[in-house]
Amino acid sequence: MIVFKQVSKVYPNGIEALKAINLHIEDGEFVAVIGLSGAGKSTLIRCINRMHDITRGELYVDEINVGALKGKAIRRFRRKVGMIFQSFNLVNRTTVLKNVLVAFAPDNPFWRTLTGVYTQTQKRQALEALDQVGILDKAYARVDQLSGGQQQRVALARTLAQEPDIILADEPIASLDPVTSKRVMKDFTRINQTMGITILMNIHHVEVALEYADRIIGIRAGEVVFDGKAATVDEDV
Ligand code: ADP
Ligand code: ADP
Repeated sequence: MIVFKQVSKVYPNGIEALKAINLHIEDGEFVAVIGLSGAGKSTLIRCINRMHDITRGELYVDEINVGALKGKAIRRFRRKVGMIFQSFNLVNRTTVLKNVLVAFAPDNPFWRTLTGVYTQTQKRQALEALDQVGILDKAYARVDQLSGGQQQRVALARTLAQEPDIILADEPIASLDPVTSKRVMKDFTRINQTMGITILMNIHHVEVALEYADRIIGIRAGEVVFDGKAATVDEDV
């Protein structure tokens, strides 16, 4: 469960990107966060895995007070809270499999995976993760030879290999065409439904959010202006 209690985020430039947010997200939910550019969606998601520190309030993930984590505990915590970005964040000039193996070397990903130091168990888990997103046949292809949608699935496989409880996705389909976006959204849906992983996703395509998410949170100027079932979203969120 993810709990926001009166969470505010003020950036050093004085912008208050989140204003006393209160939220409860249960295990296994598929939540889409919608709102205009600059509304605070990205900030909201990035506070959950401590990419950003909150300024006021309290944020808990499975009863862990996220703001109180230090050093190694942050790294351990981030294995349970996977993150997917718009830009995939892959190492282009190497294989898909090695990119997924990065999941097992969080402290020094480039060194370890590029030098090929990993166990057979890790390799099997990485291949399983690729199978889960339907691109096992691309395991030995170079990342830069794949389409955008395939690259996003590699990123998803890398996150799955960490065995996360939660996946945070910051505009995961923003740079993909509509057909590819659908496939990637279906992967998220399957992961959510069959593996029970909680998904919290920023998305600016409202119609896509409505189609795939169970719950929609609308953000405007740092405040929650809508929170409910996808079916009941108001036109002007
Ligand atoms: P969204 O994801 O909805 O587009 P963001 O969370 O990126 O919104 O941004 C919310 C507000 O915070 C915006 O006004 C943005 O300019 C500001 N902001 C975001 N990141 C930073 C930062 N690192 N430093 C200062 N201001 C920021
Ligand atoms: P995205 O839409 O992917 O969140 P943005 O263009 O909003 O991308 O932000 C890109 C990066 O710049 C983010 O790390 C964000 O925190 C930072 N950023 C956004 N707005 C500002 C701002 N007003 N001042 C400083 N940094 C910002």
